Amino acid sequence: MIHNEITSLFQIEKPIVQAGMIWCSGHKLASAISNAGGLGLLGAGSMYPEVLEEHIVKTKSTTSKPFGVNLPLLYPDIDKHIQTIINHKVPIVFTSAGNPKLYTQQLKDAGIKVVHVVSSVKFALKAQEAGVDAIVAEGFEAGGHNGADETTTLCLIPHVVDHVNIPVIAAGGISSGRAMAACFCLGAQAVQIGSAFVMSHESSAHHNFKDKIIQANEGDTKLMLKSLTPVRLLKNNFYQLVALAEKRGASEDELKNILGRARAKKGMFEGDMIEGELEIGQVSAMLHEIKPAAQIFEEIYSDFLATLKKNSI
Ligand code: NDP
Ligand code: NDP
Repeated sequence: MIHNEITSLFQIEKPIVQAGMIWCSGHKLASAISNAGGLGLLGAGSMYPEVLEEHIVKTKSTTSKPFGVNLPLLYPDIDKHIQTIINHKVPIVFTSAGNPKLYTQQLKDAGIKVVHVVSSVKFALKAQEAGVDAIVAEGFEAGGHNGADETTTLCLIPHVVDHVNIPVIAAGGISSGRAMAACFCLGAQAVQIGSAFVMSHESSAHHNFKDKIIQANEGDTKLMLKSLTPVRLLKNNFYQLVALAEKRGASEDELKNILGRARAKKGMFEGDMIEGELEIGQVSAMLHEIKPAAQIFEEIYSDFLATLKKNSI
């Protein structure tokens, strides 16, 4: 058993956090991971306020263990989400994609543990200054929104660990216990895993999306839309449209027009594999099966312990 600052901060048994991903992580996935001994997160970025409330209530009815909510700070109705989180006494919030100064104090005043997602040392220091309890440092390999600097997990984690005095959770490129052990060697005290849990029965991703991930090979995802909000996408027709536009030097407005509205929902939730936006990490090339979330969780954790044992001198 590993006991460290993160397991005691969240009151969890095993230092694995399931990423709060838009359209993929609702109450079924979050409660399955919390019940397995990790920390499950609801991805609130794609939920209308009443939808988030419903998912919080359902999560509470299916797990008595701690769980949290991922709140992208770009979300349009953020004040409503924050009120719902406070009213329902959700113990933990992960904020991402924005300035941590804005809401950290309000959440902490309500007794909530706050973690912020960053992709650089600069933002890690800003998050620490804002008073967060821990940081997720997310490398270039990760799916979905990502930092524009393209810093890989291998470079980012030790750099952030050396600059902050709060615990660091590693994210980006982690789908095995071997990768988890590597992140612990770099100084992380937990890992946050997204793509591998998209491939669970409990994730709310459309089965077309899960099937497409099974077919994915190395090189099939790429960081796109760097001039808008950088996002790692799986290659499809929509990706090609963006790639061609970027190649010809399209303006931000042209790119926004191509993106349109609700592309992510169309792809990941409704299953349109041609025109939808498909957000997944580089590890998609290593994911070949759809399994129960608890099984994915246990396989990663036992592989992690075995790797530590095998490499101990
Ligand atoms: P778009 O602007 O293209 O579309 C908004 C989508 O969010 C729609 O599909 C809409 O559902 C849904 N939605 C949920 N709540 C609201 C609301 N209060 N007002 C308007 N729409 C809402 O955005 P994206 O799909 O690209 O991103 C949605 C959110 O997710 C953003 O806040 C973004 O920052 C965040 N995000 C988070 C990521 C993460 O991994 N944490 C990754 C990518 C984005 P409907 O179609 O049913 O109207
Ligand atoms: P801005 O880039 O205009 O940032 C607004 C304010 O928030 C600025 O003070 C900026 O710092 C700060 N800020 C932005 N992102 C972070 C962060 N992750 N941690 C701490 N502070 C942050 O626009 P937005 O707020 O709309 O943010 C969009 C940007 O966020 C994009 O450039 C994208 O690369 C990044 N992003 C990072 C994610 C991550 O950390 N994984 C996830 C999603 C987006 P400053 O004044 O120093 O620029």
